Amino acid sequence: MTVIPNTVRAMLEPMIKANGGWVNTHAHADRSFTLSPEIMEMRRTCTLQQKWDALDRLKRESTVEDFYARFSMMFELMISQGVTALCTFVDIDPQSEDRAIIAGIKAREHYKDQLTVKFANQTLKGVIDPEARKWFDIGADLVDIIGALPKRDERDYGKADEAWNIIMGTAKEKGKMVHAHVDQFNQAVEYETEQMCMKTIEFGLQGRVVGVHGISIAAHSKKYRDRLYQLMREAGVMMIACPTAWIDTPRTEAIGPMHNSMTPVDELVPAGVRVAIGVDNVADAMVPWSGGDMWHELTLMATGCRYDHFEDLVEIATRNGRMALGLEPYEPLPIKK
Ligand SMILES: [Zn+2]
Repeated sequence: MTVIPNTVRAMLEPMIKANGGWVNTHAHADRSFTLSPEIMEMRRTCTLQQKWDALDRLKRESTVEDFYARFSMMFELMISQGVTALCTFVDIDPQSEDRAIIAGIKAREHYKDQLTVKFANQTLKGVIDPEARKWFDIGADLVDIIGALPKRDERDYGKADEAWNIIMGTAKEKGKMVHAHVDQFNQAVEYETEQMCMKTIEFGLQGRVVGVHGISIAAHSKKYRDRLYQLMREAGVMMIACPTAWIDTPRTEAIGPMHNSMTPVDELVPAGVRVAIGVDNVADAMVPWSGGDMWHELTLMATGCRYDHFEDLVEIATRNGRMALGLEPYEPLPIKK
């Protein structure tokens, strides 16, 4: 059957396929498909940070079989869309212990002929608390990519700097890449991407560090943003955008540059920063509305950032993702402006 290319989707999807297929660079498969009336009520009444703790019970009660079912559902959902590679974070902490990663490794083995899977350790409890640190160290050996959430240690202890040192030091020692959740809250008081770049340079990890989200970048002034893009490029830092996950940032009365609550792809790419795409949470307490649809994510990114450069969008959906997962070596992106 001939497909008439009269929609953007009909134009772009064959290009994505020809470029090696979709790469979903960010997910939390171990918590996906866990919606329930109780979870929805929590969603309506809790802040993000309260949710981090409220999730504990769900995790404690999940068995290896529960986790295996969630990983399998996610992997099959990705395969059905033509995704060829996926990175998912996995909770390896005092609640999930090693049950989720054991299940993940088993599920990865089952689907290995259809999907390349990389694991990163989610550090929902930070890396400063001794019990959390113990599980971070165990996790660091089991995963492919060192995961991070420095905000947690900043919130609990005011020790983001120390957390970064532990994260970057571990990555360097083990020869692994870093994926760090940064600048999530769309607030000009966040400077986490900048801090990540400085630490990347300090530890000599250029081309090996990837930020996840970077929403708050767009809340800063134009001058700050331009300086930051230059620094990101110097540090060889890439950024993963997960458009659905943060488009629901609550309204505030803060004054700032007008923008949608998303990674500023329209500025990052011309400035020479490689951007990849991910679904992040799917059908769980954090993001109940996401169905894990790659095309939906790309549509939201392109429209929300008013970015219509098809070749760049195809790179974001494919090759940049492979670089972010370490499946292809990092190459600096030419600066367009
Ligand atoms: Zn995430």
